[in-house]
Amino acid sequence: MNGVQRPVIIAANWKMNTTPLDASLLANDIAAATEVAGVTRVICPPYVSLESVSRALADTEVEVGVQNVHAEPFGAFTGEISAPMVVMFATWSIVGHSERRRDQGEDDEMIGRKLLRCAESGLRPILCVGEQLEDRQAGRAEDTVRRQLERTLAEVRRVAEIVPDDLVVAYEPVWAIGTGLTARGSDASAMAQLIRHTLSGAGIPGGAAHVPVLYGGSVTSGSIDEFLAEPDIDGALVGGASLKVDEMAGIVARAGLTAAARGSGSRQG
Ligand code: PEP
Repeated sequence: MNGVQRPVIIAANWKMNTTPLDASLLANDIAAATEVAGVTRVICPPYVSLESVSRALADTEVEVGVQNVHAEPFGAFTGEISAPMVVMFATWSIVGHSERRRDQGEDDEMIGRKLLRCAESGLRPILCVGEQLEDRQAGRAEDTVRRQLERTLAEVRRVAEIVPDDLVVAYEPVWAIGTGLTARGSDASAMAQLIRHTLSGAGIPGGAAHVPVLYGGSVTSGSIDEFLAEPDIDGALVGGASLKVDEMAGIVARAGLTAAARGSGSRQG
């Protein structure tokens, strides 16, 4: 059991997959196949499916998230979507996913401002951090993740002098995302400890013991156990496997066993 009763969270990142119709059917099927006590379930569909998915999940306990929000609340940013635009449908947002860092050039400072937008709008952020393969091979994995967190939180403080207290962090080694490779549970656990230590040093209110840390990177129903066996890991951010009902059922079932073993079986996060 983790001393502070952190929630066990399984978050699905559907990326650029599904149409609004597919998405509502898939959300419905996943909700029905994953009714397990003590696991907070979050589905993050594409923006255009937010309405259909939030309708499909209205009578369930599955929560809805977005995959990104813009760093500004409104303005001349053609084609972008901001936090105030999605709060009617979503209560969570992934922030700083490595695919956006890679493809959209998001840096830690921009990601810090996105955390602020989440805080202003009441979206619970899942902040993604993680090293490239060359960082790990060169022994720089921990320094990379520490620097990502420190720079992100420094920007939050520079702009608003607050640190979000409902943060969830996803440790996602970039080399494990969508590759079929996974980190070792022990390495992910060491990183979770470093993440909480860094957050604590950055002055997160109440220390960081309450901050859930998820693992992400090619998680399946076959690999999740290795991560959930680590007391410092509180669940997973799941990409490819989250589009398969059977996989989600297996992942959430295993997460339910962890929640029960940690004594959080009757709690939702
Ligand atoms: C992700 O998108 O955050 C992710 C971890 O993807 P996958 O599970 O496909 O590696």
